[in-house]
Amino acid sequence: MYKQIRFTSFSFGCRVNEAERIEMNREMIAAGFILDHKRPDLFIINSCAVTNKAEREVRQLIMKLKRDNPNLRLVVTGCAATYWRKNKLWKNIPIDLIISNNQKTSLISQIKEYHISNPSNLAVFQPRQSNSDQLQQDKFILSGRVMIKIQDGCHRFCSYCIVPHLRGKPKSRKIYEIIQRVRENQQGNHINEIIYTAINTEAFGKDTGESLLQLIKTSIHQIKVPRISFGSIHPWSITKEFLDYYRVNIARKRLSDFFHVPIQSGSNKILKYMNRGYCIEDIEERLNEIQEINPFALIATDVIVGFPGETDTEFQNTYEALKYLPISKFHIFRFSPRRGTAADLLRKQLGEPTSQEKQDRARILTQLGKKKYQEFLTEQIGSTNTGLFIGNNKDALQQALMHNQIPVTIKTNEDLNGRMMQIKILEKKNERLFGVICGPDRT
Ligand code: SF4
Repeated sequence: MYKQIRFTSFSFGCRVNEAERIEMNREMIAAGFILDHKRPDLFIINSCAVTNKAEREVRQLIMKLKRDNPNLRLVVTGCAATYWRKNKLWKNIPIDLIISNNQKTSLISQIKEYHISNPSNLAVFQPRQSNSDQLQQDKFILSGRVMIKIQDGCHRFCSYCIVPHLRGKPKSRKIYEIIQRVRENQQGNHINEIIYTAINTEAFGKDTGESLLQLIKTSIHQIKVPRISFGSIHPWSITKEFLDYYRVNIARKRLSDFFHVPIQSGSNKILKYMNRGYCIEDIEERLNEIQEINPFALIATDVIVGFPGETDTEFQNTYEALKYLPISKFHIFRFSPRRGTAADLLRKQLGEPTSQEKQDRARILTQLGKKKYQEFLTEQIGSTNTGLFIGNNKDALQQALMHNQIPVTIKTNEDLNGRMMQIKILEKKNERLFGVICGPDRT
């Protein structure tokens, strides 16, 4: 008997991967597959290879899924899949279909072909509208948030990073296509927030003759979505023009006050080894300006500890920089060499800190990050801004994400998931902020 193929998906790593996963779901439904998280026949993994740990986690999930259900068909794509194919590393991993990044555009047809060429599957496909009800299961869509990928690939070749080797040269979507994609998402759905994701925002538009600032301005003027934000905004994108526009009232109202700026190190020597093309003084100037424009803006960052050549002195420089810069949220990574990158050669020349040193340094920065984040939360008490309700909590405590993306808990019996309201932050208890609704959203 013929049956429709049920599928689910999971992504590791960055927000670009997550945006791709959501788009894949949409396209799979349109192609006639059924989204079913509980009893899938097919599982798509959008993998990450940015660190050894990320890659290990992908492998662990694959093994677990096959152990729990040997009949489940596994399709693996993304950076780890590309890395494994390139280096012929996947022979002992139980994958049914492995699809490199450069073949992702034909992912659906490859999956269909796989099912059609295997008669035991007896698959049948009934295409549906891409804005199908099935997508409503997604927690982002439920609260009216949509991630849109605006760019792929990278030209920077930071010495530690495998991504340019796996995703290739920068490719941007044209602004009109992005706006069209937002409008498609708005059909039948109320969208509160657009989250633009890119591998490197600096590269956006370089291949199409457009710019990130044009995208921001066009989005603000042409689409009716209250909040526009970025997964990450890379240090090179925070230009004078960008900051001048952030000062303008209309931008301040619509652009989220959240800036995830991956600086990677606070030591100029290490930044040079990393090939980042800036020094910590440049970063200081730009981040201070964001804070001067809006003291409530939340600035977050990624930092790598234990890079080749990082002695106690360089680590101390990073610690001091993170202490005084207006950054309140840290994501700390321990350096792990990736075959084929410049840093892999560098570590042979310069040596690298021991794993104990990396662990200690990561712990010290994590503690500093926690302290600064709590201080930042305390500074929010008494402020009022727009909050977007996400999820629904049974004990009448609901969570809203403020304009700077910090979560605030509100006591209410009403189901406010997906609504935007004015919220006043009242207090901090057990490291969480609590607030009250003080009116409907005015944006
Ligand atoms: S900017 Fe650097 S870290 Fe980011 S993807 Fe490009 S090479 Fe990798």
